[in-house]
Amino acid sequence: MRAICWHGKGDMRVDTVPDPRIEQPGDAIIRVTATAICGSDLHLYDGYVPMMKAGDIMGHEPMGIVEEVGPEVTRLKKGDRVVVPFVIACGSCFFCEKSLFSCCDTTNPDAAALAELQGQAGAGLFGYSHLYGGYPGGQAQYLRVPHADVGPVVVRSDQPDEKVLFLSDILPTGWQAAEQGNIQPGDTVAVWGCGPVGQMAIISAWLLGAGRVIAIDRVPERLEMARMQGKAEVIDFTKLDVHDQLQVMTKGRGPDVCIDAVGAESHGLGSMDAMMDKAKAAVGLTTDRIHALRQAIHCCRKGGTVSVPGVYVGFPDKFPMGAAFGKGLTMRMGQTHAQRFLQPLLDRIDKGEIDPSFVITHRLPLEEGPAAYDTFRDKKDGCIKVVLTP
Ligand code: NAD
Ligand code: ZN
Repeated sequence: MRAICWHGKGDMRVDTVPDPRIEQPGDAIIRVTATAICGSDLHLYDGYVPMMKAGDIMGHEPMGIVEEVGPEVTRLKKGDRVVVPFVIACGSCFFCEKSLFSCCDTTNPDAAALAELQGQAGAGLFGYSHLYGGYPGGQAQYLRVPHADVGPVVVRSDQPDEKVLFLSDILPTGWQAAEQGNIQPGDTVAVWGCGPVGQMAIISAWLLGAGRVIAIDRVPERLEMARMQGKAEVIDFTKLDVHDQLQVMTKGRGPDVCIDAVGAESHGLGSMDAMMDKAKAAVGLTTDRIHALRQAIHCCRKGGTVSVPGVYVGFPDKFPMGAAFGKGLTMRMGQTHAQRFLQPLLDRIDKGEIDPSFVITHRLPLEEGPAAYDTFRDKKDGCIKVVLTP
């Protein structure tokens, strides 16, 4: 089959590789019909995640048709149309029983290596390095899905792929980000980052009762999407001091809920430091608070909640613990427990309450995937989300 494979920093290639086959009795094989590129894939593309091997198959946002199931699979059968969540969970360990699927204790055999970096390992993930189990990903014609009874959600309606595909990651991620914000009716929610995850957090915040949503980014097309589709008020962080602007907009109190949908790196802008220096210079700032997470903590109102879907690894310094403590903030974060949200979010899509397909700007064949990585990372041609068809 054909698959997008990692060959080093900035080097993706479409290779011909062996077809996957059933390895465990709980596996299923999916023929992929649509598969997206995620902001998280850019961390691999940019070489920030260790333990990638040349030839690793990328991708964790796939959907498709079940081709074959192992003898222990009971929930899926050949011919079912499924969306596959990016988290691989066993469904029966201590953590899965608490619905903490991204903390699954059994699907990441390389946990020890990750523990050094992250404190404790999370679940296995598709196409996300040997830190997360080394599972081949879904930017390919076929995908082996371990624990197939626990992950994939069956799509029974005739919704097009584009409307349901993002159940694989960004929709549950944006939803969990908003839900972890503990939004109360009428709350003001500020969202840093208007990439695909930020856009999903914005629409989720409204559905969870926000009275006002304020979105922050620098990319004009993304701010425009947040304004038009997300009905958010927007702030361009290269033009305004975000902290001061939020103070003005909330009459000096700060947003009730602050969501960091940016994470550790800022893509297509050179290094984080260079980008921050540029942005700080643009608004004459001398403090460090322009970093999205720091800024979210500094801007949040006393007693508010900071929710962090953005990915961090290692030991980001200058975490403003004093501000977080002084204001009595609640902080929530982590990899999405995707399995928890699939059926309820699919029901909302089927009822017409959510249509996440508005983020798609680029539809391309799998063979054009490597070039699409560049387009997405560098935000060329107004690129916000790429969907590939094998
Ligand atoms: P993306 O790279 O497309 O979007 C990030 C956006 O942040 C960009 O539009 C960028 O311009 C903006 N940005 C950069 N610096 C900023 C700043 N200082 N203030 C405001 N905006 C800023 O990525 P995405 O696909 O939207 O993903 C966002 C984050 O969510 C990534 O870190 C990704 O790895 C993470 N993620 C987490 C999970 C999870 O399970 N928690 C799942 C999927 C993605
Ligand atoms: Zn993703």
